[in-house]
Formats: sequence, C-alpha cells, structure tokens
Amino acid sequence: MKIVKADTILISIPFDAGGIPPWSFGGKPKLAFDTLLVRLETEDGHVGWGEAFSRNEDRSLAMMIETRVLPLVVGRDAREIAKIKHDLEFNLQNFGRIGPIMYGISAVDTALWDIAGKAAGRPLVDLLGGAFTNTLDVYASLMCYHNIDDVTAAVGRCLERGYRHIKLHEVGEPEIRAACAAAGDAEVTLDTNCPWPVEEAMDMDARLADLGLAWFEEPVWPPENYRGLARVRAQGNHPIAAGENQGGLHDFMAMIDAGAIDIAQPDVAKTGGVTELMKIAALCEGAGIRFVPHCALFGPGQVATMHINAARRTTPILERLFCDFEAELYDGATLPVDGKIKLPTGPGLGLDPDPDVIADYRVD
Ligand SMILES: [Mg+2]
Repeated sequence: MKIVKADTILISIPFDAGGIPPWSFGGKPKLAFDTLLVRLETEDGHVGWGEAFSRNEDRSLAMMIETRVLPLVVGRDAREIAKIKHDLEFNLQNFGRIGPIMYGISAVDTALWDIAGKAAGRPLVDLLGGAFTNTLDVYASLMCYHNIDDVTAAVGRCLERGYRHIKLHEVGEPEIRAACAAAGDAEVTLDTNCPWPVEEAMDMDARLADLGLAWFEEPVWPPENYRGLARVRAQGNHPIAAGENQGGLHDFMAMIDAGAIDIAQPDVAKTGGVTELMKIAALCEGAGIRFVPHCALFGPGQVATMHINAARRTTPILERLFCDFEAELYDGATLPVDGKIKLPTGPGLGLDPDPDVIADYRVD
C-alpha cells in the first residue's frame, strides 16, 4: 500500500447563481468556483481523492500543497492514516494550524480514507461505523446577493426545487427580512461570515429576534473571538453556529469551553479531514453541542461530508451551495433532488471525479 504518486489538480468551473456576481476577487467579478483535488496513488493501483478548500483559481494554494505537503506523503504506507496525518501536522506546524497547509493535510487525510474504503471494498461510511441513513437532508446555502430582488428570487428557486431548509448569506436587515418572508414556512438560517464587533452583533441579534432564524452563524469578528461570540450567545436570541474557520479538535474544545457555540461547523477540507471531523463529532456528542459540518465544497470534500453525516445518529443536515455549474464533477450524483441526496454505495467515497470534466476545466 505504498504511496507512489501524489498530485494536486486544480479545476475551476463557471456557475450561475441567478443574480449579480456574488463575489469578486481584487475587484473583478468571478463566477467560477475551484475544486482543489488531491490525488494519491498506491503501488498496487488504488487511487484516493481528497479536496482542499479553495476559491478562485488558487494556484498558489495548490503549489504550496504540492511542494510542502505531498512530498512528505510519497513513500508512506497508505494504511497509516492517523500516523501520516500526525507526522504532516507535526512537521509542518510552523506553517500554521489553520490555512493552506492544513487544507492540504485535510485533503490527504480524505484521500487516504478513500483508499482505505476501496482497499476494503466498503463505502467510507462503513469504516466510520456504518450508516444511520442512506438519504441526507440538504440545506440550500445561498450566495450573498446584497439586494432584495436577487435574494428573494433565489429563495423562490430553492422552494421550487423542493428545499425545506435555506441558509442566507446576507448582512443587511432589509434583505434578511425579505428573504425570510419569501421562504414561508421553510426553515431559515443566517450566515454573516464574521462582519461585526460584539456590540454590533448583539444589536443585529436583537433586531432579527422576531424572524425565528434557526441559527445565527459567525456574527462576530474575528472568528477566534470566542468570548465575544459567547456574549452574543448568552445575551442574544439565537443558537450560535461557527467553526469553518477553526483548525482542529483543540480549537473546537476552546470554543466549547468558552461557551461560544450551540452548533459546531468543522469543514472536512479545512479542519483536518475525515479523521479530525470524527474526533470533533465525538467531542460535540460529549459536550451536548450540535455537529453540523460546513460544506462549501463540490468534490471529494462534499462526498466525504455525506459519509460523515450519514455515520452520525443525529444525522446532520448537509450544506450545498445554491448555484448551477456549467459541468458536474460527478455527473450529477452530488446534486440534491427535492432537498435530499443519496449516499453513494461504492467502495471508498463511492464516486470518482469525471476525467473529462477535469480535462476541460483544469487550471494549470
Ligand atoms: Mg459559514
């Protein structure tokens, strides 16, 4: 099971979000989303796929993983998942405990679990203890539109497609109120991506109290301001969700110790891969905190998150960003239907990326 090849493959696929360009980079509108793949191959021919968090043609991030992380993986025994992950983290600790290097380690870990499942001839979920369900509920995670017309139209399209759970990425009260009104009796959560000092976050929490939001995500700047988050949680009106900007088990321990969160949101492509997410899931179970992974991913990261969620008794709802891609990496197998998605049943992740899509959308 010696790993003989380790590569990054960066692809960038254009999407339509049905509104104004939802984000830009350096002032230039970008309507494409990266999937930064890590591909590992063993001497006996097993191929594993992982995903590192990425955004828009992140060549520098791919290069960092290619040159710093992957050379430490080649030659190792793919069965030693925990040891490889430990050695990567220990040897690369000076490059930061959250950020590009950890994204690369996360991708390697997921690819190793894919190989383990393929070698065992079992789907990943079986290696994690077995499935509690074969069908996952999905919430539509909307782009940020920052205008009432586009966000309400997007909510309407979510409902037409059968979603019963919708997450907004708005910070303006008029847009939030209009979107909630458009959502009717569908459940709405709000993700603000860390915009406010504590006092402003508390003010917004109070102003939105009548809307019945199911959670209030990352209201406080900066993301490691656990005391500030804890104040909003203690004095505010909403369950608090956070975790996509935390690096691993101990960051979640610190957040929980601070009383900062009701809902933990580690990301399999940022927070240490499948191995670390299962540790965080156990921590949450012990602490009475909801475990609902973050998943702004469309490749092996999304598929791995599906297996992780299915392996939990309190099956977390799966996040999927609400946009339509020009091409699908898995021929549509990772697209929700009526707000639900089927867990793949093949060995490992159960899905391999389409080589034609990789060829067509690869960023060199
Ligand atoms: Mg978020």
